[in-house]
Amino acid sequence: MSKNVDEHFDVLIVGAGLAGLSAAGVVKEAGKTYKVLEASERAGGKVYSEESEDHKRHFEHGAQFVNEDMTEIIQLIKDSGMGLLETNLSDKSIVINEKNKRPINISMNKDNNLLDDYDIETHAPLSEVLSEVVNDKWEERVVKSFIAAETTVNSSHINAIAARKMISRITTQDNELKYQADGPLNNVTRYLEKQLEGNIIYCDPVVSIEKTEDVYQVTTANDNTYYANALILAVPPTVAGRIKLPDDVTQRFKSALDSFVDGAVIKLTYVYDDDFWRHHSVKGREKTIFGVIYVGNEGVNVMDSSKGDEENRLTMFIGGDKAKELVNVTPEVRENFALDRLVEVFGDRAEYYKDIKESIWVDSPYYGGGYGAMIHPDGDDDAAETLSTPFERIVFASTELGMAFPYFMEGAVQAGRQNAQSLLDSL
Ligand SMILES: Cc1cc2nc3c(=O)[nH]c(=O)nc-3n(C[C@H](O)[C@H](O)[C@H](O)COP(=O)(O)OP(=O)(O)OC[C@H]3O[C@@H](n4cnc5c(N)ncnc54)[C@H](O)[C@@H]3O)c2cc1C
Repeated sequence: MSKNVDEHFDVLIVGAGLAGLSAAGVVKEAGKTYKVLEASERAGGKVYSEESEDHKRHFEHGAQFVNEDMTEIIQLIKDSGMGLLETNLSDKSIVINEKNKRPINISMNKDNNLLDDYDIETHAPLSEVLSEVVNDKWEERVVKSFIAAETTVNSSHINAIAARKMISRITTQDNELKYQADGPLNNVTRYLEKQLEGNIIYCDPVVSIEKTEDVYQVTTANDNTYYANALILAVPPTVAGRIKLPDDVTQRFKSALDSFVDGAVIKLTYVYDDDFWRHHSVKGREKTIFGVIYVGNEGVNVMDSSKGDEENRLTMFIGGDKAKELVNVTPEVRENFALDRLVEVFGDRAEYYKDIKESIWVDSPYYGGGYGAMIHPDGDDDAAETLSTPFERIVFASTELGMAFPYFMEGAVQAGRQNAQSLLDSL
C-alpha cells in the first residue's frame, strides 16, 4: 500500500458497508470526485457470505433475510443477478417456547402497539416499561427474550422511547424472514463495488479527522492522508465515536454518538439431512415448527432458515448479554451450549447435523456488534435524527439511522442514499 497519499476529493466516504457503498453511489451519480476508505480487506461489513470448504454450500455470516417491503435491497439483489427464494415458512408454521413447547404469537408490530399506549418516562429502560405494560410474567419473559434476539441488545440496556421510535420505522406487516437471495449476498457487495469503479481503498482504517480552513484532513492507521471538502461517516455510531473528530464536530455530535451501545450476536447455522422440526409433536399433534424462542435463556432463538427446495437448515441466534458471556468461553463450550438448546426442544436428532457454521459479531472494532447499536437508557432518543442531519459538511450514515427498516440491510441502503443526498443538497 502506498504511504502518505496526498489527494483531494469532493467527498470522502468512511466505511464500505452497505450504507457506505450506497452513499458512494449517490456521490458518484452527482459527478463528484470521491473515494471510499474501508478499514478491512473486504467491502460489505455485516453482509458477508462464505463458501464451505467442500464447496457444497455457502453460509451467510451476517445478514440473510429480506421481505417484499424492503424494496431497495430487493432491487439490489435482483440487479446483482440473483432471485429470491421463500424461506420455509407457511401460515401453519408455529414458533414455540422451549419450556412447555406451546406456540408463541409475537412480532415487533405487536410490541409497538404495547408501547404506543404507554406514557414512557425519559431515560426509562425498555425492560422496566415492559414490566409495566405486559401483565403476565411469563409473557414478559417471552417478550424480553424475543427483543434481545431481535435487537441483539437486552431490553434493560435499551432506551424505551428510542425503541418505540425505532419500531415505528419498521412498518411492514409481513414476516421479515420471508425471503432470501438464491445466491450469496456477497454478490450484492460485488455489484456495488463494481459500480464504484475502483474507488474503494481497502485496509486503511480512518483514525482521525482534522479541519484546516475549509478542508477536512483524514488520517488513517497507515499514516495515509486524504483531503476532502465533505465527509460521510458510514460506520456504526459506536465505531464513529472512536474516530478523532474536529472540536466543533465533536461538540455537535458527541452526545448523539455516546447515546449508542453495541449489540452482540452469535449466529450458528446447522445443516441437516432430516427436516425433523417440520414433523414435531406438540401435545400429540404434528406441527411444523418454524422457530423457538428460549424463555430460560434471554436472547436465544432458533429459526428454520431453509429456503426453496435447498437443504434443511436451522439457525440459532444468541443475542445480547448471552452472546457477550459466551464469547469468553471456549468454542467447544459454546457449541455445546447451543446444541444442548436444540436437543432440549427437538431431542437427540438435533445432534446429527452434517455441517455447522458459527459467526461471532461481538465487540468488533469496525463492525461494532450485533445487527447494530441501540440507544441506551441514558442516551438521547433523538440521536439518530441528529446524526442524519449534516453539520458543516459532515453527515453520518449507517443502518441505525435508516428512516425505514433500521437495523436491517434495507435501513443501511436507505440511510446511505438519503444522508448522502442531504449532504450534497447542503453544500
Ligand atoms: C448475524 C447478523 C445477522 C443479520 N441478519 C440480517 C437479516 O437477516 N436481514 C437484514 O436485513 N439485516 C440483517 N443484519 C443486519 C445488517 O447486516 C446490517 O444492518 C447492515 O449490513 C449494516 O450496514 P452498515 O453499512 O450500516 O454497517 P456495517 O455493515 O457495519 O459497515 C460498516 C463498514 O465500515 C467499516 N469501518 C468501520 N470503521 C472504519 C474506519 N475507522 N475506517 C474505515 N472503515 C471503517 C467497516 O469495516 C465496515 O465495512 C444482520 C447482521 C448480523 C451481524
